[in-house]
Amino acid sequence: MKERKSDMERACKEMRLGVAVDVEKCNGCRTCELVCSLHLSGMFDPYSSAIRIVRPDVHGPISSEIRDGCDLCSGLSIPYCVEFCPTDAVFLTRVP
Ligand code: SF4
Ligand code: SF4
Repeated sequence: MKERKSDMERACKEMRLGVAVDVEKCNGCRTCELVCSLHLSGMFDPYSSAIRIVRPDVHGPISSEIRDGCDLCSGLSIPYCVEFCPTDAVFLTRVP
């Protein structure tokens, strides 16, 4: 299992993968922020999250940001934000 995880980490680095949000699918629940903060800081603290979901008003458009602190959930086979997004809005993608 450990070998599979390190294989995936290596593949992610070689392919320059990152996470991204399909804002058309996102419902603004911010679960991704909570689980990301749990991974990065050990606490449910959206301020520690590397993924940010921004919705200035309840009916307004949603935007997202992936910050430098994202380590693609090193050590996990599926990044938390991908695994726990209820609408499958977060996905792995190639980065330039
Ligand atoms: S968990 Fe998914 S639906 Fe919820 S805010 Fe994050 S991207 Fe949007
Ligand atoms: S991949 Fe992991 S560290 Fe990166 S934004 Fe998603 S939950 Fe946070």
